[in-house]
Amino acid sequence: MNSKERFEAALRLEAKDRVPAACPLQTGTIDLMEASGAYWPDAHLNSDKMAKLALAAHTVADIESVRVPFHNDYEAEAMGCFLGGWKKESQPVKVEFAVKTVEDVDRLGVPDPRKDGKMPVVLRAVEILSGEVGEDLPVIAAVCAPFELAVRVRGMTEVMRDLMLRPEILRRTMKIATETAIEYGKALTDSGASAIALIDGSASTLGPQFYAAYCLGPTREAVEKLGTLTVLHVCADTKLILNALADTHVNGLSIDTVVDIALAKEAIGDRVAIIGNVDITDTLWCRSPEKVEKEARECIGKGVDVLAPGCGFSPLTPLENMRALARASRTS
Ligand SMILES: [Zn+2]
Repeated sequence: MNSKERFEAALRLEAKDRVPAACPLQTGTIDLMEASGAYWPDAHLNSDKMAKLALAAHTVADIESVRVPFHNDYEAEAMGCFLGGWKKESQPVKVEFAVKTVEDVDRLGVPDPRKDGKMPVVLRAVEILSGEVGEDLPVIAAVCAPFELAVRVRGMTEVMRDLMLRPEILRRTMKIATETAIEYGKALTDSGASAIALIDGSASTLGPQFYAAYCLGPTREAVEKLGTLTVLHVCADTKLILNALADTHVNGLSIDTVVDIALAKEAIGDRVAIIGNVDITDTLWCRSPEKVEKEARECIGKGVDVLAPGCGFSPLTPLENMRALARASRTS
């Protein structure tokens, strides 16, 4: 099996020769920037550099996938948000939200991924990667899940206020966000992405009742209309919404370190591939390669389908620790 076949078999819960070490989350680190000569912020804005840095996760750090982009605000920026704080060692920050008033929701449109903002930069990077390694490696492209995009264009405080006081505004924002995820995800697939990672960083803050009421339907609609292999990543503690996350019909669920792999496998492992979940801060950033390898082996022992970090790699992750993660899967 090559890396692409192994990853796809894992996502489909089919037989595989071993657990792959692939990463559906951001892989840009300072060490890989130095190894590839492609640095942030250029690698956010230039397709060649984006592809070069993404490829280094495989050629330098041995991860069995390539993944773009390295921040999650491409759609929000194309919809009118303003980003600032472009730095080598951290992702850009939101300076201004696109939706500041209720009236702004009416002006919000679905961006054209081939024209608007920097979305075409990501499409082109996917094309480059797909041409270079698409037969052998999974080329994973990220899009914001509907709730995540609503938060990114509106701000968490206002989204929570909408949820309580004017739910129809949140539903309208979510509708546009859902269409955006579908359009952008399809364009990325057309450019050669073999899997789409839907990022839903904040969804666990909603709790089971609100997740079911606001997120489940739109996320499932996006998954079904994308019609390709999908991974859903939700940050933090998702124990109470695991069943609802499986109900979105994604192929793979990428879980944070706080959720035990064995517990997730027991709850939903017959319906969705479980991806994770070595600690990105305490372990991957701060500990030794031996400790990384030990934790990675524990994930494999608990039945993880794809070995990965519990969230995106910190830019400060030492190269040897990324290699140790990959080594654990190859030698288990
Ligand atoms: Zn996360």
